[in-house]
Amino acid sequence: MKKRVLITGAAGFLGSHLCDRFIAENFHVIGMDNLITGDLKNIEHLFKNEHFEFYNHDVTTFVHVPGNVDFILHFASPASPIDYLKIPIQTLKVGSLGTHNLLGLAKEKNARLLIASTSEVYGDPLVHPQSEDYYGNVNTIGPRGVYDEAKRFQESITMAYHRFHGLETRIARIFNTYGPRMRLNDGRVIPAFIGQALRGENLTVFGDGKQTRSFCYVDDQVEGLYRLLMSNYSDPVNIGNPDEITILDFAEEIIKLTGTDQKIVFKPLPKDDPLQREPDIKRAKEILGWSPKVNREEGMKLTFEYFKSLSKEELFKSEH
Ligand code: NAD
Ligand code: UDP
Repeated sequence: MKKRVLITGAAGFLGSHLCDRFIAENFHVIGMDNLITGDLKNIEHLFKNEHFEFYNHDVTTFVHVPGNVDFILHFASPASPIDYLKIPIQTLKVGSLGTHNLLGLAKEKNARLLIASTSEVYGDPLVHPQSEDYYGNVNTIGPRGVYDEAKRFQESITMAYHRFHGLETRIARIFNTYGPRMRLNDGRVIPAFIGQALRGENLTVFGDGKQTRSFCYVDDQVEGLYRLLMSNYSDPVNIGNPDEITILDFAEEIIKLTGTDQKIVFKPLPKDDPLQREPDIKRAKEILGWSPKVNREEGMKLTFEYFKSLSKEELFKSEH
């Protein structure tokens, strides 16, 4: 009998790659998504597979899945600043009520649950690089608070179920991850810059561009998540690539990669935009034997190929 895994947020960027990985690992995969920021085209290649099923369902309402479930990965949540600023209440609900529903389901089914937490639990960090024992610096009432606090609550309620009910839980603190199937218009910096380069627009750097991020290629991320799920470790683990770069230097890399002669233009820095971010991955190395393998040059080439393959219509479609 195949092990059965429920993946929420299955039609999204990370969720769809996780579906592929678990199918490849010989699991029966149950995908769930309400398509608020996801797209069925990310998983349509799985529809003819008898070991894949899909439920169009909002996980903030009661979640029912027939049959046994061995593992649950809760990845449903808007993930880009533009998305969660546009749908703040849904973001708070999916991190809180949605997580509560999935914890209840995990308890009912005796399943192991992994939650997709985030580097945003560290807020605008005062410690650099960020290790798991740093408690963070989050503005609860700022515009990003809807995402950051939902994820912090998600971690707390997950640990409470672990301690109080003995549920098997895993907490992945995911740092900026990129790759094919990111939504072109989700506002995150990689699709934003590549989209601008392909459309012949100037690249918009927010603030002075001195803020940093550290980008992890999706295959490395999925490998880390898979290892964490299969481990016996229930405290949070950072999963990300520690190769840090300023956003201004990154914009210049994109101009080189895409071979355009676009200019860089500066726009105001969004409120509470973290000034620096780099994961300390000592714990992931020690406990999971994991570290990222794909460097930014290689990962960005693969990502650019994906965005280049999109139709002109998709490229010029504007959501905002
Ligand atoms: P995404 O927007 O591509 O995917 C999220 C998916 O969740 C979408 O398909 C969306 O339709 C679905 N969803 C949202 N609310 C839902 C609800 N109430 N019920 C059912 N489905 C719902 O984003 P992503 O980048 O794939 O992120 C996936 C998860 O990983 C999120 O929880 C996010 O917070 C976390 N994460 C991602 C990153 C990253 O760099 N990509 C970093 C940190 C954390
Ligand atoms: N950013 C930018 N130009 C854009 C989009 C984003 O300069 O068109 C910056 C943003 O202000 C942030 C960084 O790029 O400092 C990463 O933003 P993203 O939305 O990808 O993710 P975040 O890490 O902030 O959640």
